[in-house]
Amino acid sequence: MINTLLICGGGGSEHEVSLRTADFIERQLGHVDDISLVRVEMDGNGRLTDSQGRVQQLSQDRMLRDADGEAWEVHYVIPSIHGYPGETGDLQSQLELFGIPYYGCGPEASKICFNKITTKLWLNALGIDNTPYQFLCSNEAEEVGKASMALQEWGEVFVKASNQGSSVGCYKVTSAEELETALEQAFALSPYVLIEKCLKVRELEVATYSYEGELMITPPGEVCAPEGTFYTYEEKYAEGSHAVTHVEAQGLSDAQLSWIREASRRTFVGLQLKDLSRIDFFLTDDGEIYLNEVNTFPGMTPISMFPKMLENAGHDFSQYLTSLIRAAVQ
Ligand code: ADP
Ligand code: MG
Ligand code: MG
Repeated sequence: MINTLLICGGGGSEHEVSLRTADFIERQLGHVDDISLVRVEMDGNGRLTDSQGRVQQLSQDRMLRDADGEAWEVHYVIPSIHGYPGETGDLQSQLELFGIPYYGCGPEASKICFNKITTKLWLNALGIDNTPYQFLCSNEAEEVGKASMALQEWGEVFVKASNQGSSVGCYKVTSAEELETALEQAFALSPYVLIEKCLKVRELEVATYSYEGELMITPPGEVCAPEGTFYTYEEKYAEGSHAVTHVEAQGLSDAQLSWIREASRRTFVGLQLKDLSRIDFFLTDDGEIYLNEVNTFPGMTPISMFPKMLENAGHDFSQYLTSLIRAAVQ
């Protein structure tokens, strides 16, 4: 039996989304003969509780213990946490210290990709086109001046907290007044803030993952936010969302498809990603393509694209995950 610990929740703004992803993973592994799955939820302080609300602790000796000292040996961990401390790489650092294999990217790649600024610095170093941007280290006059200039030059901008996902801390801004509010809100969430040129776009997403030791890159899928808005938290997860998704985007040229494929491959390899990622692109009205962001632990909720794209590529999710687990513990 492979004792697999599914850790979900976490302390970030995406706690709820992480639980839904964990529901999906639980369904995928529930009926696998050689995997015994235990699910625990993590709170904002890193405290773990099991489904009966009992506190559990994972220790250096790779044992999960409850308050009565009852222990269960952990062979593999699935950190099902969007945002801190999972997608940020902090939990993975601890797992590395404990020597427990786990699903997904390592601490360093996670940290680089979760921060939208370091992502861009890496993409630039790898020579992969990404959205034009400025970044601000504080909400003080000189820095805000850079943001105002960017707004003047680009007309419409996105203000983004550097370390959030699910569109939290992400604001579309068209006026100086909006800019002031957006900067305040973004800086309340993050010490660094990104100003990006707003592109009139189609949004494409590529599932890039390892399957039986090989790197798989799906054709891009597409998410379409309703007219007049962007792909906000609500459009991503709320009941009655009007966002439409297509598991394969239509009407892309062969050159565009191969550009996206090559950029995804170089990103996965260059950033030394592991097991899975969803790499997102913008396609402008002029046919230009920019890499938007790299999600090292993409959502797996009912509306999420990653599992759909993988299945569309002919890969059974349960088999994919099971084979990664078996290979990692061998
Ligand atoms: P998150 O990690 O929160 O998903 P994103 O950078 O993907 O952050 O931004 C969230 C959404 O905001 C995108 O899916 C897109 O709809 C919109 N958006 C972000 N940046 C831009 C941009 N530069 N131009 C146009 N739309 C954007
Ligand atoms: Mg993201
Ligand atoms: Mg995104």
